[in-house]
Amino acid sequence: MEIKQIAIRSSKREELIDITSEVRQFIIDSNIEDGKLTLYVPHTTAAVTINENADPTVCDDIIFALNKLIPRMKEFRHLEGNSDAHIKSSLIGCSQDVIISKGNLILGTWQGIFFCEFDGPRNRTIILTIN
Ligand code: ZN
Repeated sequence: MEIKQIAIRSSKREELIDITSEVRQFIIDSNIEDGKLTLYVPHTTAAVTINENADPTVCDDIIFALNKLIPRMKEFRHLEGNSDAHIKSSLIGCSQDVIISKGNLILGTWQGIFFCEFDGPRNRTIILTIN
């Protein structure tokens, strides 16, 4: 099984980081023609999602809406004070699958792959495997 870890350094508390080009390079380097790419985030306050990477304001709006949905609340019991980040991680999810066909990732014209930071800045990792 092909496996790779990509190191990510986030620079804000909440941030969507476009990793599409690094992921495409992994597919090229693997020489796999057909299969399924799994992306996995081994963190409890981060996530991975696929969404528009043409207009960066889409990412701004996703973060804005998540912060409206899940504000930091004094009623949260987790002493670390980052329960909002844990909840955002569970909502968005820690894995995504993308189909590989003829050596290419099957993404729509406007789709990109984003590492989602919800409690940065931190050093992070995302794991890629091909099945
Ligand atoms: Zn925590």
